[in-house]
Amino acid sequence: MVVCLMRVLDTAALLHWPVHELNGNICSVGQQAELERVSPQRWMLVQALDIDWRDANAAWLAQARECAAQSGDLPRLSDVDLEVLALALGLQLPLVTDDYRLQNTMKFSGRESTSVDTKGAKQVWTWIRRCTGCRHTTEVPEDVARSKKGDVGDCDRCGAALVLKRKR
Ligand SMILES: [Zn+2]
Repeated sequence: MVVCLMRVLDTAALLHWPVHELNGNICSVGQQAELERVSPQRWMLVQALDIDWRDANAAWLAQARECAAQSGDLPRLSDVDLEVLALALGLQLPLVTDDYRLQNTMKFSGRESTSVDTKGAKQVWTWIRRCTGCRHTTEVPEDVARSKKGDVGDCDRCGAALVLKRKR
C-alpha cells in the first residue's frame, strides 16, 4: 500500500519535483502567480494536477508572522513565503522548501520541514537587528519591513541602518 503523506510545497518543489509527486499536496493560491511568472510552461503542467490550492487565513498568517519575527527571519520572507509558512503551521503539516529562512522558522517553531533536493538546515539560528552606527541590538518586530536584501529598518537611537545579525 502506498502511504500518501500530505505536505505543503514551496515554489521550488513545484518547479523541480517530478510531476506525479506533486499530486495530493497543498500549495498557496499566491504561488500560482509566482510559478506562472517564473516558468509559464511548468504552470501549464501544474494546473492540470490534483493540488489542493489554499488561502492561508488571517489567524495562520498572524501565527507565521509571529514565529518568523521570533526566529528573526521575518524581514527576509516574501508574501508568498509567509503564505506557505502559514499553511504549514496552520494545517500542522511538514513544509517542503529549500529556503533556509523558512526551514529555520519551521525548526524554531518545533515543526518539520524537508528540503526539495538538498540537506536541510540542522541548526536553528535566531536573528536580531544590529545598528550599523551605535551597534545597539533589537529583536525583530512583527511589523518589520520585508525584502530579500538590504537593511531592515533604522535605529531608534541614532538613525543609522539596521542589519540582520545572528544572535549569539
Ligand atoms: Zn544606532
